Amino acid sequence: MELYKTNQLKIYNSLSKSKEIFKPLIEGKVGMYVCGPTVYSNVHLGNVRTFMSFDMIFRYLKHLGYKVRYVRNITDAGHLENDADAGEDRIAKKARLEEIEPMEVVQRYTVDFHETLQTINNLPPSIEPTATGHIVEQIEIIKDIIEKGFAYVENGSVYFDVLKYNEKEHYGILSGRNIEDSIHNTRELDGQSEKKNPQDFALWKKADERHIMRWPSPWSNGFPGWHLECSAMSTKYLGETFDIHGGGMDLKFPHHECEIAQSKVNNGVYPVNYWMHANMLILNGQKMAKSTGNYILPNEIFSGDNKILSKAFSPSATRFFMLQANYRSILDFTSAGLEASEKGYIKLMEALSGLDKIETSKTSSIAINAWKQKCYDAMNDDFNTPVLIAHLFEAVKFVNLLLDKKESISVEDLATLKSTFNAFVFDVLGLKNELQEDSSDKLSGVVEMLIAMRKDARDNKDWAMSDKIRDELAILGIQLKDGKEGTTFSVN
Ligand code: AMP
Ligand code: ZN
Repeated sequence: MELYKTNQLKIYNSLSKSKEIFKPLIEGKVGMYVCGPTVYSNVHLGNVRTFMSFDMIFRYLKHLGYKVRYVRNITDAGHLENDADAGEDRIAKKARLEEIEPMEVVQRYTVDFHETLQTINNLPPSIEPTATGHIVEQIEIIKDIIEKGFAYVENGSVYFDVLKYNEKEHYGILSGRNIEDSIHNTRELDGQSEKKNPQDFALWKKADERHIMRWPSPWSNGFPGWHLECSAMSTKYLGETFDIHGGGMDLKFPHHECEIAQSKVNNGVYPVNYWMHANMLILNGQKMAKSTGNYILPNEIFSGDNKILSKAFSPSATRFFMLQANYRSILDFTSAGLEASEKGYIKLMEALSGLDKIETSKTSSIAINAWKQKCYDAMNDDFNTPVLIAHLFEAVKFVNLLLDKKESISVEDLATLKSTFNAFVFDVLGLKNELQEDSSDKLSGVVEMLIAMRKDARDNKDWAMSDKIRDELAILGIQLKDGKEGTTFSVN
């Protein structure tokens, strides 16, 4: 039986600001959309934290037996320098500065994004659509919103009429803002003069002469507004209403607020049942951000090549550091914090390796099933990874006590301990045992050295030595195979 049938998962819904029992629209299936990166620069560790949080959520949903369709887009057009529809397109600007094609910028940073997430051991999403691949769908939505009277055309650009929408709906339902406050607080920004009200947002922007990325539309040669792509792609792949929509906390307003308004007008229904927001990674007391220069790149952490670091840290130690904080809490990035997490990570891996050396008894002195339940309770409580990790450290203690024969465990309970410990560490948290990989690298090195020594022996016609090396390795379960290309080995 699927685990979701016996586990009551609760999710903190940013819309209701409370933890709610998770009930997907279709039993056993989950549709999840997460806003992806704007591919105009290397992803920094803050971006990675958000994508890793949703990877952990994806992994746990899958672990519970849900069939998850996870859609995460690539923003390759339409995201202007200023989130409020002003300034140059971020990708076009980078292309202009570097004198390359916008699609070269997109390609370079999409590759970087994928490589980085793979290094940190994120699973790929089920679908990864791009904004430029969905221009037609976006134009259709704009036509529909204009027809319904909630958007207006001004000088080739199209704007969503927020005040009109707010007459019957609440623009601010997600972020807790109300339009009256924003009327008082909004500054007039460059390029906003076309708007009836500064709160309105662009659905389509007419491209000016220097804008390279442009498409024909009924209104002008131009490009879609940033918010629209997510409405178009989430509706297309997950339906008019779907289960989970995620992103970083900073996307709540205006991005997600605008998504709700567009989709509500377009489809007549609210798009999302559970809105989830991951909190920010902080550096030097401020949000990690590319625009301010206050950031660290994942590769700098893996190489140690940044003056704020005491040394290099592995991808799994970095991942573990981030998972030790709740995804809804702010996390302060420090080298000391990483060092402490690395120690914890090593303890965890050592305990996992120790599991195979435990001897079983007739009965157990440890309540393994109660411990297992606590692990599930932690994750069912809105994916509370720090509490889960505290329980995993309890398992580290069990392993050490069992190895010292200060506690006892039955065959059945040991099997439960092993499977639960492994499942949470590797499948759900997505850690890798880098210590084991490290020692298998070393083993390969030693065997290669012995193969070279055996070759020297054979070249010297020292058949006794050559046979001795082969036979001793065979006793250890390492088989040598001589072929045309030289000698290879396999480990049984
Ligand atoms: P962007 O490419 O700027 O659209 O950002 C991609 C994702 O990273 C979004 O979900 C952002 O909310 C998230 N993000 C940006 N800065 C941070 C940060 N300092 N900590 C955590 N997430 C962040
Ligand atoms: Zn989005």
